[in-house]
Amino acid sequence: MCQGVNPETNPAQLTPRGMRYQIALVGRRNAGKSSLLNMLVGQQVAIVSDVKGTTTDAVAKAYELQPIGAVTFFDTAGIDDVGMLGKQRVQATRNALYRADLALLVIDEQGLTEHDIQLVDEMTALKLPFVIVFNKMDKRMPATDDLSFCQLNNLPHISVSASKRYGTSQLKQLIAEYMPAELTAKANIAADLYPNGAHILCVVPIDTAAPTGRLILPQVQVLREALDNNAIATVVKESQLQQLLASLVNPPALIISDAQVIKQVASLVPESIPLTTFSTLFARFKGDLSPMVSGANTLDNLTDGSKILICEACSHNVQEDDIGRVKLPNWIRKYSGKDVSFDVLSGHDFPEDLEQYTLVIHCGACMFNRTEMLRRIRECERRNVPITNYGVAISKLQGVLPRIVGPLLTANAKLCSQ
Ligand code: SF4
Repeated sequence: MCQGVNPETNPAQLTPRGMRYQIALVGRRNAGKSSLLNMLVGQQVAIVSDVKGTTTDAVAKAYELQPIGAVTFFDTAGIDDVGMLGKQRVQATRNALYRADLALLVIDEQGLTEHDIQLVDEMTALKLPFVIVFNKMDKRMPATDDLSFCQLNNLPHISVSASKRYGTSQLKQLIAEYMPAELTAKANIAADLYPNGAHILCVVPIDTAAPTGRLILPQVQVLREALDNNAIATVVKESQLQQLLASLVNPPALIISDAQVIKQVASLVPESIPLTTFSTLFARFKGDLSPMVSGANTLDNLTDGSKILICEACSHNVQEDDIGRVKLPNWIRKYSGKDVSFDVLSGHDFPEDLEQYTLVIHCGACMFNRTEMLRRIRECERRNVPITNYGVAISKLQGVLPRIVGPLLTANAKLCSQ
């Protein structure tokens, strides 16, 4: 690795987007959100002006915020924006809140207005932690009524002046304090499924859908975690698995396979060796495994006319044998024998009219942060629409689901008995 390169300026060294904490700066136009972003990162990254509505699209800035680590700040358009385009920008701000881990509600010298109180209500309903930042303290300190509102409602708050750079370190401390502990606690991808120093084996098919010259992010993250845990990690294509297993004196502690070849891999791996898939690991790491497993059981109850929503967290070139658009629909039609239709959505889009779907099948969401994936799961639960993910659904369709989730359930049971 080359030395001396600033990771903030070299995208290749940035922590993957889905592993960064997302912090949204929201508030009315001209409350000083852009100035606050510049204050927090110590650079002029957002355009600051006295003209209302200067920030039209969200500005994202990656930053290392100690002690919590890699974050992305999102400077958003004002929540009181007007006009047709303004409405769309307000919606974009609400979308940013939907995927934020924490928000900063920036208030100017006018104090709390009805727009701000509405944001407080919306963020409370989303269970999104937030800090109220009374900006422009050099012009006016917060009104007594506003401070009482914060105290009565137990809302963390701070006074700063972004233009004068007053309060930077105190605000950073508050962000670290109010970032949810469940997000800052170190989560395992697979490390709790094998002893430190063990041998694990990854099965990675190199087919037309595999990106040229690299592995995909879930595979990279599993391998990096293995190195962090002093594990010996071997990577093979499914065509070499049998040969490799026959050559080993001791079996691997765990085999992690790409879900698309799981049927073949399961037939080659003795039942005594724990086996799972990358997507199953990510169903747990990025969200919650249990609803994903019960969601997959919906595949047993499809009828003619059932509609399935396929969600992919990132956009990519559609291949001839694309997993979400071709392989999964074909497998599901074959498995159910029913006339099932499919819609596909990519990126941060998630439909308002979820109820029209019998089932949502999500990708591994390696590009999402955990908060966004958990919000999607909770939204599906609230609307009574089952959700599963690619790996869990494929394992169900291939008849190996109990075996594939077995290692994760065993680890969970051990944790509960401690
Ligand atoms: S489609 Fe989903 S799992 Fe696949 S690379 Fe994109 S975000 Fe990751």
